[in-house]
Amino acid sequence: MNPESYRRIPLWKDVPLDQWETYRWQMANRIQGVEQLRQVIRLTPSEEHAATRRSGRFIMGIPPYWAALMDPDDPTCPIRRQAVPTEEEYQLSPNDMIDPLGEDSHMPVPGLVHRYPDRVLLLVVEICSMYCRFCTRSRVVGTSAGFSKPMNIDHAIDYIKAHRKIRDVLISGGDPLTLSDERLDEILTKLRGIPHVEFIRIGTRNPITLPYRVTEALCQVLRKHKPWMSLHFNHPKEVTPAVRKACGMLADSGVPLGSQTVLLKGINDRPAIMKKLFHELLKTRVRPYYIYQCDPVKGTAHFRTMVGQGMKIIEKLRGHTTGYAVPTFVVDGPGGGGKIPLMPNYVVSVKDGVWTLRNFAGKVFMYKEEGSANGVGPSVEPSYALIQ
Ligand SMILES: *Cc1c(COP(=O)(O)O)cnc(C)c1O
Ligand code: SF4
Repeated sequence: MNPESYRRIPLWKDVPLDQWETYRWQMANRIQGVEQLRQVIRLTPSEEHAATRRSGRFIMGIPPYWAALMDPDDPTCPIRRQAVPTEEEYQLSPNDMIDPLGEDSHMPVPGLVHRYPDRVLLLVVEICSMYCRFCTRSRVVGTSAGFSKPMNIDHAIDYIKAHRKIRDVLISGGDPLTLSDERLDEILTKLRGIPHVEFIRIGTRNPITLPYRVTEALCQVLRKHKPWMSLHFNHPKEVTPAVRKACGMLADSGVPLGSQTVLLKGINDRPAIMKKLFHELLKTRVRPYYIYQCDPVKGTAHFRTMVGQGMKIIEKLRGHTTGYAVPTFVVDGPGGGGKIPLMPNYVVSVKDGVWTLRNFAGKVFMYKEEGSANGVGPSVEPSYALIQ
C-alpha cells in the first residue's frame, strides 16, 4: 500500500507525508462537517441528511487518516459505517437507553465507575479522535459533560486511595490517548503512587483510529509506568501498516495488548470476518479479549445483532483456530449488571459423575469424575452445567 495514497483525495493532495503522519495535524483537520465529508465520499441521501442535521444525536469527528480508508462509493464499507452518521440514528427503538450500563448511577465520585469490588473504571477525558456511531458512552463522549476536569480526577484518585480493595484501575473515557503525554504521565504517576493499585490498563482506540498518536515519547511514558492496554478493533480492514507499526512500538515497549470488539450488524457479524480480524490481531501481537454484544444505546438499533450471533461466532472459532484468537463473548447487563459471558453449550448431560461433553467437531466424549461414580452423585449440580 502506497503511504501517500491519501493524495488521491483532492482535499489533501498537497499534504506532505511527514505532516500527514502527525497526530496534531490529523486532529486539527478532522472532518466535522458535511462540506468536507462530501469532498471525501459520495454521500447517500441518508448520510447527507444525518451529517447536515444541526441538532445531531452524536457529533461527527473523523481524522483524515480514517477518512482515507473509507470506500468513497460503497456506503456499506465497514470503515465508513463506523464513522459516518446515517438517518437510522434517529430511528429510536423502545429498547434504547441513554446510559445502558447504568454507569452514572455507579459513580461514587464524578468520572469513576465502581461496579466490581476490586476494580474501577476511571473516565479521564470526553474526547476521542474518531467518534464511533455506536459508542456506548455517547451520552458524555464528545460533550462537555465535564466529569474529567482535573479536580474531579483528583477526587477520583482520592477515592481509590481510600478504598484498599481496589487493585485494578481501568483508564478510559473518551479516549485517554487524546490527553498529552505529560497529562497521561501525571495521572499514571498518581495511580502508581497508590500501594494497593497493582494493575493499570488504558482503554483506547487511538492506535486504530489515529495510529500516529503512538510516538517514541508516548512509549517512554508507558515504559515508565507499565500499564496494559485494551485496544478496540472491529474489522480486519483496520489493521493497516500504520496500525501494525503503532502496535509493534507498543508491544516492543512491553505493553501487553488486548482487543475488545463490538459485534456490529453488517460490519463484523460474520464468523469469517471475525476470524480474519483475530488472525490479523495475533500477527500484530494483540490478544482478542472480548466481543461485546452491542449495548442498547440510543440510536444504535441498526447496529445490533441477535445475541445468538455472538455465540455462533464463538462456536466457529473455538477449536477451529488458535485458542489465543478466541475472545470471550459478553453481554453487558443493561442497567449495570456488568459483563456476562455467553458460550455455546458443550455439556450434553451430567449424570452420576459422568459428564457427557461434545467437542468443537460435534463428537461426544465422557469424562468420569473421581469419587462420584456408582451413583454417589455429581460433585456439581447438573443445573450449573446446563445453565451455561
Ligand atoms: C468492563 C469494566 C471493567 C473491567 O472488567 P474486566 O472484565 O476486568 O475487563 C471494570 N469496570 C467497569 C465498570 C467495566 O465496565
Ligand atoms: S473510541 Fe470508544 S469512547 Fe470514543 S467514540 Fe469510539 S467507542 Fe466511544
